[in-house]
Amino acid sequence: MNDSSNKKLSDNIAEILKQIGEDPNREGLLKTPVRVEKSLKFLTEGYDLNPVEILKSAMFSEDRSQMVLVKDIELYSLCEHHMLPFFGKAHIAYIPNLHIVGLSKIPRVVNVFSRRLQVQERLTDQIKTCLQDTLNPKGVAVVIEAQHLCMQMRGVEKQHSSTTTSAFSGLFLKDAKTRLEFMNLIK
Ligand SMILES: [Zn+2]
Repeated sequence: MNDSSNKKLSDNIAEILKQIGEDPNREGLLKTPVRVEKSLKFLTEGYDLNPVEILKSAMFSEDRSQMVLVKDIELYSLCEHHMLPFFGKAHIAYIPNLHIVGLSKIPRVVNVFSRRLQVQERLTDQIKTCLQDTLNPKGVAVVIEAQHLCMQMRGVEKQHSSTTTSAFSGLFLKDAKTRLEFMNLIK
């Protein structure tokens, strides 16, 4: 059996401090393992949350077929390759099909998928698929613009470069005019 599997997360963080050449017993670091454990649990709490339940808790019948857009949703996630933050904004639209959803639920769905180890591409797709499968709208559009600290801090890319990913379904995929309307609205 793996020795570390019985250890608390905070014990493992103390071990990491030692391995990077620090003294986990010096004053400034005494509470660090416990703080990091709490912080990591918060930043990965998405594994324990169910985005479908969140959406279903606030779905309402409504005969509306105009685009609903929530833009500039703040987003913080951790890249799964380096466990370093990437952060930015998500812009999400859907075209209702007999149902609408409480607007605050859309940023919550973003949080559920962001608070896991991610790559930006999969995060974008997961949000789109969850909204499409749960609300069954006439289409979903998701655009995410983010900066990746694993590129910036490690000097892999130019300091202020950002990465844009998009995912579309339904009318946003089939109808160029609808997609253009969305792209113009989020500019
Ligand atoms: Zn990375």
